[in-house]
Amino acid sequence: MTRFQDKIVLITGASSGIGEATAYAFAREGARLFLVARRRDRGEAVAERIRREGGTAHFHVADMADRAQIADMVASCVAHFGGLDVAFNNAGIDGAFNTDTPDYPEEAWDDLLAINLTGVWMCMRHQIPAMLSRGGGAIVNMASMAGVKGFPGSSGYAASKFGVVGITNAAALEYATRGIRVNAVCPAIIRSEMADRVFGTDDPESEAKAGSWHPMGRIGEPEEVADVVLWLASDQASFVTAEAIQIDGGAGA
Ligand code: NAD
Repeated sequence: MTRFQDKIVLITGASSGIGEATAYAFAREGARLFLVARRRDRGEAVAERIRREGGTAHFHVADMADRAQIADMVASCVAHFGGLDVAFNNAGIDGAFNTDTPDYPEEAWDDLLAINLTGVWMCMRHQIPAMLSRGGGAIVNMASMAGVKGFPGSSGYAASKFGVVGITNAAALEYATRGIRVNAVCPAIIRSEMADRVFGTDDPESEAKAGSWHPMGRIGEPEEVADVVLWLASDQASFVTAEAIQIDGGAGA
């Protein structure tokens, strides 16, 4: 399939995990990729692999905690490729886990809201005008199962991801008649460096335990999230907006 032939696609947090897998998936379907992360060596390696395989990718360093860098990121994408059609606002951090609300570290709370929530808002703030100038576009924001369902011990992460679902809906309604669809994805545990850190999924025993929390009996793969992101960003989802789609092996049921 080449659903994204020559489309300009911006992905944040593209240096690893779900963002990296999504970059390869868009590249296979002909997109021109503007990849963003903080780690230059890892991000350049992703862009280089896409170019080696015949695709088009440019890597840009930006910190989603820095509002000026987010503005510059979108401006640089427009300057480099001439516009913006699709954005996957995926960058995020995990913060503290297994910590009751009164004990939740203030610094972790502040970082989570700055990167996971304000970062996504700032991305949309600059992406929406860029998309409007081309007649429309599609935005997919990274939330989490923890953005639609409560889990103990993660109040900062929950606040940030519930917030992402909220601003996704607000923006989707604002632009519903102006050609921009805005949706969110809400994965359960997906194989990544973050899952290794939080759930120890790099150890087979811990991975099996994490897998058993899902009715399908396993954790998800980054490519399984990428497939949903691409569908949401494609014309196949032309009547879908303000959705928060759970990708969770049945865990949210
Ligand atoms: P990951 O740690 O491999 O990827 C996170 C990406 O975000 C990396 O590229 C990292 O460099 C980038 N990033 C983090 N802070 C940043 C900042 N300040 N500025 C720019 N980039 C930054 O883990 P992942 O699982 O691929 O995480 C991607 C997203 O998926 C996150 O938003 C995470 O909350 C969300 N998520 C992950 C899971 C899971 O189980 N893996 C489940 C639900 C949601």
